[in-house]
Amino acid sequence: MRIDRVAPRRFVLTVIIVLVAVLSLSAQQKPDCTVRVTLLQVNDVYQFAPVDEGTRGGLARLLTLKKAIQKESPNTLFLLSGDTISPSVESITYKGAQMIDAWNLAQLDYSTLGNHEFDFGPDVLRQRMQESKFKWLAANVIDKKTGKPFGDTQPYAVREFDGVKVAIFGLTLEETKITSRPGPDVDFLNPCETARKMVKEIHANGIKTVIALTHLSMSEDKEVARCSGVDVIIGGHEHTLLESSSGGAPIFKMTADARELGQIDLNISKNSGAVESIDWKIIPVTNKTPDDPQFAAINRKYGALIKELSRVVGRTSVDLDARSAVGRNQETNVGDLIADAFRASTRADVGLMNGGSIRADEIISAGPLTRRDVLSILPFKNKVVKVELSGASLREALEHGVARSAEDAEPGRFPQVSGIRFTFDGRRPPGSRIVDLSINGKPLDEKRMYTLATSDYVAIDGGDGYAMLKTARVLIPRERAQFDSDVLQAAIVTKKVIAPKTDGRIKRLDQNQKPKSDCP
Ligand SMILES: [Zn+2]
Repeated sequence: MRIDRVAPRRFVLTVIIVLVAVLSLSAQQKPDCTVRVTLLQVNDVYQFAPVDEGTRGGLARLLTLKKAIQKESPNTLFLLSGDTISPSVESITYKGAQMIDAWNLAQLDYSTLGNHEFDFGPDVLRQRMQESKFKWLAANVIDKKTGKPFGDTQPYAVREFDGVKVAIFGLTLEETKITSRPGPDVDFLNPCETARKMVKEIHANGIKTVIALTHLSMSEDKEVARCSGVDVIIGGHEHTLLESSSGGAPIFKMTADARELGQIDLNISKNSGAVESIDWKIIPVTNKTPDDPQFAAINRKYGALIKELSRVVGRTSVDLDARSAVGRNQETNVGDLIADAFRASTRADVGLMNGGSIRADEIISAGPLTRRDVLSILPFKNKVVKVELSGASLREALEHGVARSAEDAEPGRFPQVSGIRFTFDGRRPPGSRIVDLSINGKPLDEKRMYTLATSDYVAIDGGDGYAMLKTARVLIPRERAQFDSDVLQAAIVTKKVIAPKTDGRIKRLDQNQKPKSDCP
């Protein structure tokens, strides 16, 4: 009896063991049922040539890395998270066409629109989009005339790899409306609402894996991750290496100019079509990676310009402060350097440069200075003219220069000067903010005539509101004047090594006020 009762138990036990073995085998086989889709990420790439004195970046190196990764992981999407058409020294000449050429050759798959894509206006951008062999995606950038995404792009794209489908859509900063030049016919919709709508639509079409290619601030990216249910965000804009997560979705941002290549592997279930896991690594792009020979075509086409831009014109033994927020609010060593060069080159009594025309927006480290550095500081090709005006008009011009200093965080009109020393107080009413003013060591004489070196933009066009200068007598007209960048370069070449230092020629009495807090 016992035996009889034991026998069926043994049978049941055997069946269970076999079942467990079969189940565990299928569990082991499960990883084989995922498809790996590799996303290769760059963002904010303004030049195809390497940066940091040739040590980092470079699209020719990027193409080498891309091809090597593709050999090992054939299901690859090469993505750019926006900002490439502007600003750059090359774009002064080509308006971003050189980058489209480079991306076409590097076999980019998709890009979203960055805020800087609109810097040359919507028509130039449309032209660039037509030249692109890759696809642009920006679901929240709407052409008001058609009600559809700008540039006739699809709201999202779908790609199939080994039987699994992935969808990808783009998002752009709403503030592009005011920070760039999209014109009146382009609308920027709320990123979160757009993302929610996109994901809903994509899921409804049976696609589970959704990639957002964004050019937003990190706080907006986190909001999009929380509110929409995207699987991964490939972002940009900050120029900082960031790896975050929100709402279960990882968010990646490389720095800029292809200094790194992000490799993000999505392991997608063949059965469900959903992302099972994500692996990633950040690959530094350095001079250890050889150029892809295919890229030589681009170097040939633009080689003369690139070579000219990398030509060393002199050295600086100190850091050059060309940050916009500083040069539009206080004296900087770059402002002094430019205004001094203007004055010396025209033998004028005084020099003035509006802070808004000084660009680069970075601190240029001590070391060699290239033609590219000079043009990045003065990219507008303004002419350095000389005019004659009364002391009263000069005072009026300087008052105008500081009239928005307390009201505007970065007033473009702010005057960088030479031969002039003044003290101003932003707390006083506009028009009477200058409390002390001297010209070449003597108090300003309102009745005396002075000669002034400045840009044609300021003196001839009355740019940045300097209308009072339009009536000044012109001594060197723009037709006979030199380019501002050439004047600056000549000053560097003559000295070989420059070391500009601020000398207190501009004093601001309201500078120690507390900066406004970001918190509500
Ligand atoms: Zn940006």
